[in-house]
Amino acid sequence: MENRREGNATMDMKAIIEQAERDLLHTYNRYQIVLDHGDGMYLYDCEGRKYLDFCAGIAVFALGYGNEEYNNALKGQIDKLIHTSNYYYNVPAVEAARKLKAASGMDRVFFTNSGAESNEGAIKAARKYAYRKDGRTDHEIIAMNHSFHGRTMGALAVTGNAHYREAFEPLIGNVRFAEYNDFDSVQSCVTDRTCAILLEPVQGEGGLVPARSDFLRNLKALCQERDILLIFDEVQCGMGRTGYMYAWQRYGVKPDIMTTAKALGCGVPVGAFLMTEHVAAASLEAGDHGTTYGGNPLACAAVEKVLDLFEKHHIIEHVREVAPYLEQRLEEVKDRHGCIRERRGAGLMQGLVFDRPVRDIISAAMERGLILINAGANIIRFVPPLIVTKENVDEMISILEESI
Ligand SMILES: *Cc1c(COP(=O)(O)O)cnc(C)c1O
Repeated sequence: MENRREGNATMDMKAIIEQAERDLLHTYNRYQIVLDHGDGMYLYDCEGRKYLDFCAGIAVFALGYGNEEYNNALKGQIDKLIHTSNYYYNVPAVEAARKLKAASGMDRVFFTNSGAESNEGAIKAARKYAYRKDGRTDHEIIAMNHSFHGRTMGALAVTGNAHYREAFEPLIGNVRFAEYNDFDSVQSCVTDRTCAILLEPVQGEGGLVPARSDFLRNLKALCQERDILLIFDEVQCGMGRTGYMYAWQRYGVKPDIMTTAKALGCGVPVGAFLMTEHVAAASLEAGDHGTTYGGNPLACAAVEKVLDLFEKHHIIEHVREVAPYLEQRLEEVKDRHGCIRERRGAGLMQGLVFDRPVRDIISAAMERGLILINAGANIIRFVPPLIVTKENVDEMISILEESI
């Protein structure tokens, strides 16, 4: 409560929302609340109402709100140095890269500012790898239907949702879409120009769909046989959410290139694409890729501290303890309500699939002090901060059931 901006305490939300709708570009149908500050698992709007948060800014704020060590690390870095350029070295970037390598099992890191930008880098790395082999410029990428990789032109080109892409064509070309969890479908897209297969180990926006183990294992074998790069987008399912630091570790299928963002900085905009030494040595070279902000000292101080706190507070172990309980409680809710078709997901990345649009349920929950988010029109997604407790799960379930 200390950091509450008093000026806002008396401002009425309706006036702020009206102003926002005059000034901001209308690309989101926002829920009608103005959030002001947070504390642990709870958010407060600017009229002082309290909300249990099961969205975490869409799988971002893993450590909960107002974590003192995290906040102090950022404040300390702000007083030292916020930005340099990638033409110089800085200690937070070096340390963050070392820790991220250890957490991810990958060998080389390029820091970016977002998930989409991480996927842009991954696509460029894959194309350059193939180009250096045969000098051709007609290489193809296989991506998945119902995937989501971001809104920039390259990331959009590999996003398996025609509605998101259509108005913005032509995007980057030579992308083929296969069915997720259907190895034959992927195989039928492979040509002698395929340079990469890109997918999320657990599809997020596409509806909380975990990959099948045999699907990933078959893809890995195919990629090794044909020297195709396997790219995993771990932007949403990475950073502990499935009970593993990165979801590929749960399957034991290691990608050649991996992208991460969302919870990586726990709110400071930062992402990364990472690769094996083999790919690093044979793809992007000096001058091939860059970013002004990516990996700046402030962002990397956040990454470093987030990775430290994951270890210190045993976040992975905690997820493994709470996630089965969330799963069990959601199964019970599903069994009690005929309008729920299915529960699916992995770890603290869960979805309830309804037979109707869920926006009204989400609004009703918000009126009762619970923040939820959808994934597509008919699915409620549960991606709470990873510090969520069983008591928080119980509180969420009781509000959810009232709202249904
Ligand atoms: C959110 C998301 C992205 C895009 O990340 P931004 O930071 O919004 O650009 C990419 N891939 C996946 C799997 C995501 O969930």
